[in-house]
Amino acid sequence: MIPVADALALINKHTPASRIVTLKINDPSITGHIIAEDIFATTNVPGFPASIVDGYAVVHTDGAGVYRIAQVSHASPNEVSVLLPGTIARVTTGAVVPEGATAVIPVEETELVSVKDDGKEEDEVRILAEGVQKFDNIRALGSDIKKGELALKAGTLISQVGGEIGLLASIGVTEVNVFRKPKVGVLSTGDELVDLNDGKLPDELKLGQIFDSNRPLLLSFLMNWGFEAVDLGIAKDTSDTTEQKLRDALYKTDIDFIITTGGVSMGELDLLKPTIERKLNGTIHFGRVAMKPGKPTTFATVEINQHHTKKVIFALPGNPASASVTTHLFVLPSLRKFSGVVNPVDPDQLPTLSEIKVTLKKDIRLDPRPEYQRVVISQQGDSLVAETTGFQRSSRVGSMSGSNGLLVLPSSTEVEGGVLKAGETVNALVIGIL
Ligand code: AMP
Ligand code: MG
Repeated sequence: MIPVADALALINKHTPASRIVTLKINDPSITGHIIAEDIFATTNVPGFPASIVDGYAVVHTDGAGVYRIAQVSHASPNEVSVLLPGTIARVTTGAVVPEGATAVIPVEETELVSVKDDGKEEDEVRILAEGVQKFDNIRALGSDIKKGELALKAGTLISQVGGEIGLLASIGVTEVNVFRKPKVGVLSTGDELVDLNDGKLPDELKLGQIFDSNRPLLLSFLMNWGFEAVDLGIAKDTSDTTEQKLRDALYKTDIDFIITTGGVSMGELDLLKPTIERKLNGTIHFGRVAMKPGKPTTFATVEINQHHTKKVIFALPGNPASASVTTHLFVLPSLRKFSGVVNPVDPDQLPTLSEIKVTLKKDIRLDPRPEYQRVVISQQGDSLVAETTGFQRSSRVGSMSGSNGLLVLPSSTEVEGGVLKAGETVNALVIGIL
């Protein structure tokens, strides 16, 4: 049995490196990828001196007074002639500021004096603004981004906020090199499992049967984190079916990671470790972790020789809360590392979930094993307060429901009396929106 920190170090060491792919920036699936190259601007933004407001381009030293409109510049591709002192030009937001103009006066700081014969266009306008400075309301050429400047660094996430895509589009970049995200297969194991898709009603289950809840939970989790997830179905508890399902996924698909649940505890039908090791020639890096829940978590890799690739298998415990906790704790950082995510604090560590300090709402009696309790974290006054989601037994998948945090509880042997008191501060991993 190894400590959680050692398990994370082994995952870090044996998670394969991703490959680089080129994606179009107008492909919506690019969101969530990490950029694999420094991107330099090949153009200035703006590419011309542009007006920040709707108003009148002026020679700022001309001062207040009545001026004739010598030209009009809209935010459109157009030719603009030189503005002579003593004249002004009407400009819209984003329009080219005529050569010779040194400032733009917002329309609010002007007054219409006369209109042309057609009765529509203004002929003369009074500039009211005083003390106008050179370049007021003008975005200079290249003042947002300069040609040759680093626009986005390698390692930047193309976030769902959209800023990176907007930036790339503004400098005319149509495609970028990014780290490929993994494709993940999800397999449940167990003779007792009934596939929800079979359409059986709860009272049609035979004694001893249960609905497979891990697969839907994990598939939805993966898709929501932006990974391509493949449903590998349910394997019966025989060595041959388990082997066949894994072999097909490893050798006949382009799946990079396989997550299995069930079949890893110490019972008779705990097939995963021997199947991976003896039949698939895989390497088990660890098979037991000192934690609660999730003790039997198993991490293995298999060399697929003909493809010169290494594929990862996480064989997780069958109990749903254990499967979910260990997915957050171990699988997700591994998937993110493969995707090019780097730990912002220490680049040599796995990119694990963010850890924050929270205040306990109630006393917690500690377990001899370090425990990950499911909690709801909320802002109360000036502090973030953690409240348990209720009964924490590993079979109770409801303990995961509604939770946005995992308390990182120390072993009872490390705390005097084995109890953490209400009001005390502990670390928590953020798993949902706070
Ligand atoms: P195992 O590790 O196969 O011994 O499973 C441990 C416990 O988790 C047993 O009570 C199983 O019935 C339950 N379990 C295993 N797989 C699933 C699943 N996919 N969905 C719900 N419960 C499961
Ligand atoms: Mg089982």
